[in-house]
Amino acid sequence: SKHCSLQETAALLQAANKIVLCSHVSPDGDTLGSALSLMKALQKLGKDVIVTVDDEISKVYKFLPGIESFVRFQNDERIAADLLVVIDASSLDRAGNVSQCVSAPKTLNIDHHISNTEYADYLYLDTAAAATGEIMYELIDTLGVEVDLEMATCIYTALYTDCGSFKYSNTMPKTMRIAAALLEIGVKPNEISDSMEIKPRSNIEMLTKVLETLTFDADGKIAYISINNEMYDKDVDTDTFISYPRYIEGVEVAIMFKAVEKAVTRVSMRSRNLDVSEIAITFGGGGHLRAAGCTIEAALPEAQQQLLKALKEKLV
Ligand code: 5GP
Ligand code: MN
Ligand code: MN
Repeated sequence: SKHCSLQETAALLQAANKIVLCSHVSPDGDTLGSALSLMKALQKLGKDVIVTVDDEISKVYKFLPGIESFVRFQNDERIAADLLVVIDASSLDRAGNVSQCVSAPKTLNIDHHISNTEYADYLYLDTAAAATGEIMYELIDTLGVEVDLEMATCIYTALYTDCGSFKYSNTMPKTMRIAAALLEIGVKPNEISDSMEIKPRSNIEMLTKVLETLTFDADGKIAYISINNEMYDKDVDTDTFISYPRYIEGVEVAIMFKAVEKAVTRVSMRSRNLDVSEIAITFGGGGHLRAAGCTIEAALPEAQQQLLKALKEKLV
């Protein structure tokens, strides 16, 4: 990829008329909030913008202004655009079907993952950014567009998500300064927090079952929870469950295994210090130093065995 400055990135966007913005699969608040804030800014510049994600969007994010704009392309759909922008996705597989559905002379990737694989023609990568939303705040400014309350809400949600409500080590003075600017624009932190934290009962009912699976390994340095095929319900959002094993005394790495199909297991990892992105990459995934994930093409018990083995080799 050609590495771009913020100015070059803005110039690429300014030169295009029809722009497709793509969020990553298993969409989170960062990829969705970032895409929506940029969509709004580009629309203010008169651009023709499509936002897409090749996955279902959790109901948690229904409060995000513009969320109804997201479309999911059929695999046989063909869309022509001047520019395809892939947001907060470190590898092309995270973009889902857009690589086959969208034909554009240029592709741009805006991201902050250290595991970035440089799959796009142009790349704006800032691994010091806590969230892609942080990049969006600066990019929108570089585009000469004023951040309004809707964009601010989206960017704040992006930061809130990737910084673990401003608790994680990636929360930088700059992150807080941007958050402060967003509050000045009118974002109400309690409202975003309530929108993000209030869950349907079904979520807590699932949590009680998942917590029963809590298991320790490696002298308590590893704690993991599991969702087997019987427990799995695609309509129940389980993204926050990993914080329970993560916040246990002595635990260095927390893992959530989720059997999404008979022979497909989703893995989420959180660590205190160990680089879990390295392990995720060896299983075809990626992420950050302390938060990473992958998908293992194996049934739950085998996926658990494979991952725990690799992890224990790194822990010693
Ligand atoms: P989570 O555990 O919340 O799904 O993901 C944690 C972090 O790892 C996120 O930053 C996410 O972007 C990254 N990640 C999770 N799963 C995958 C994956 O399958 N591939 C890649 N490249 N990154 C992943
Ligand atoms: Mn993300
Ligand atoms: Mn992110």
